[in-house]
Amino acid sequence: MAGSVRIRSLHKSFAGQEVLHGIDLDVAAGSVTVILGPSGSGKSTLLRCINHLESPDAGYVEVGGEIIGYRRDGHRLRERSPREIARQRSRIGMVFQQFNLFGHQTAAQNIMEGQLAAGVPTEQARRRASELLARVGLAGRENAYPSALSGGQQQRVAIARALAVDPDLILFDEPTSALDPELVGEVLAVIKDLADSGITLIVVTHEIGFAREVADEVVFVDHGRVVETGPPAAVLDHTENDRARAFLSAVL
Ligand code: ADP
Ligand code: MG
Repeated sequence: MAGSVRIRSLHKSFAGQEVLHGIDLDVAAGSVTVILGPSGSGKSTLLRCINHLESPDAGYVEVGGEIIGYRRDGHRLRERSPREIARQRSRIGMVFQQFNLFGHQTAAQNIMEGQLAAGVPTEQARRRASELLARVGLAGRENAYPSALSGGQQQRVAIARALAVDPDLILFDEPTSALDPELVGEVLAVIKDLADSGITLIVVTHEIGFAREVADEVVFVDHGRVVETGPPAAVLDHTENDRARAFLSAVL
């Protein structure tokens, strides 16, 4: 199914230091998965492997039933061409903690970028950018430069940019961690609005209230392993796992 994710025995090392020790994870198409876990536990690396920003050392990642990765024994299942990787990545949106907007481009230009690269005519891309700005509560802000927008507004532009290519899957890496507390809610509200859109959402966040309200599945990652996974109530309120408990009592 477009937007489904299946990860098996995913291992990833940096400079001989293994940070993902065999991750198994299933994400249903159209669902919302929240990933929780302490800093340094490998959450960003996991998202980056899903999005081809990193390639696994072993194991595999499938998005929409298509494998992007390597077998456990290190043999490549199949060499993927840069074109194939680009095609697959074009179906995956990513939203970062630091927004990563181009500062010298307007909100509309930032949103249009991916469409123009995909060959969408300029006028069509511009109309789509305006629609998406309205969808994230920023109607009429086409010509605003990032520096003229609050952090919450910049992050909403980044979400509009992620939506512009009609992704099957959007990965959010701590999308509200860089925001002043009063701006967190407006960004979470936009993400929540996407929950029933049919797009698969994987959200790394420490916002437990959001997890409880919006997630279909909560996944707790610790030291490069998935240590707990299940519906929000099971993981947030009834976990038997000591590390998950300690983490939750620290962030709640
Ligand atoms: P999290 O997002 O949960 O905080 P990360 O995935 O960013 O964790 O990092 C997991 C571990 O991998 C950390 O120890 C981090 O220092 C290390 N790491 C991540 N990316 C790199 C990299 N490109 N090079 C070297 N070490 C890295
Ligand atoms: Mg991280």
